[in-house]
Amino acid sequence: MRPSYTVTELLGDGIGPELSKAVHTLADALPIHLDFRPIDLSLENRRARGKAVYDEAVASIVQTIVALKHPTITAEESPNAVLRRRLDLSVIHRPVSTIPGVPTNFRRELDLDIVRIATGGTYDDPGRAIGEDGAVSLRIVERRPVREAARYAFSLGRRTGKRVTSASKYTIQKATDGLFEAVAKEVASQYPEVPHSVELFDALLGKVIMSPEKFQIVLVLNEYGDFLSDMACGLAGSLGIGASANLAFDASAVVRVAMYDAAHGTAPDIAGKGLANPTAIFLAFAMLVGQLGETEVAQAIKSSTLTLLGDGIRTRDLGGTESTESFAAAVAAEVAKRLGSSGV
Ligand code: ATP
Repeated sequence: MRPSYTVTELLGDGIGPELSKAVHTLADALPIHLDFRPIDLSLENRRARGKAVYDEAVASIVQTIVALKHPTITAEESPNAVLRRRLDLSVIHRPVSTIPGVPTNFRRELDLDIVRIATGGTYDDPGRAIGEDGAVSLRIVERRPVREAARYAFSLGRRTGKRVTSASKYTIQKATDGLFEAVAKEVASQYPEVPHSVELFDALLGKVIMSPEKFQIVLVLNEYGDFLSDMACGLAGSLGIGASANLAFDASAVVRVAMYDAAHGTAPDIAGKGLANPTAIFLAFAMLVGQLGETEVAQAIKSSTLTLLGDGIRTRDLGGTESTESFAAAVAAEVAKRLGSSGV
């Protein structure tokens, strides 16, 4: 019998339904059984049912531990922000790498794991005006999420043999970034086999472009992670292929719940036309499957997707001719071939 897992699937807007269909095509080809529990997070349902939809989503995710989230429209509220707050998702892991064969302006190879503290920084305070010509906002750095992110980054380093670089402006932001680096150092001392270096964040941006091979896992505060993620995706050739894990931890630093999503939005301009590229949601799905402990299956999903892209089997946004469905079917067939599973 195939091993079976239950997964919450948060359905969204725009290209969300097409992406969901593509994920199911792929899931059907795996040697594991995934029992998807759908929760409708579309704008229409959120408007009709209000808070109850989020209550349902949170209860389901807490139960299934893992969730796959499709893109949703941010209107009255941002579903990602609501879920992040309600589930205490304090860390975002965003792997970004160049894909052999996919054209980029950048001529080097890049393979970064960005581990970002998902709360605080300047993003929790919209700021306020001071008189007519000034404004101020608070920048918040807290020990707990920094420690959780650092433990996650160093455990990833331990598992993968990769180095960790923490980057901030600790020479200027002495209290906030100083606290961040102190916690990173404290956690690093518990992982002596994982090499750790410290960079100033502005210097890091230049160095990633000049010597990308020197950087593997990068640990950063909220806003720096935001900037670095988009820069790295741009270097890798597309903002449309990024995927993230949004993570919450228990007191022993074990992942308590994890929500996986694509970095892109709902793409209303192409919704319903079969033009959506499912690469990002497939990479998010691969991370989810890895979290279930199915490392070999996760690796097969990721490498099959990337190999096909490299071979020129691509959707139109990447210069190919495949539709969402035909690309999904091709990845599913490749995964089934590699894993010797049933196929589609
Ligand atoms: P939102 O408001 O939900 O963020 P948006 O259109 O402003 O939507 P994105 O959804 O990120 O932002 O889209 C930006 C551009 O990239 C659009 O032209 C869109 O069609 C394209 N795009 C985004 N995601 C994909 C995808 N998965 N496949 C193909 N094109 C995409």
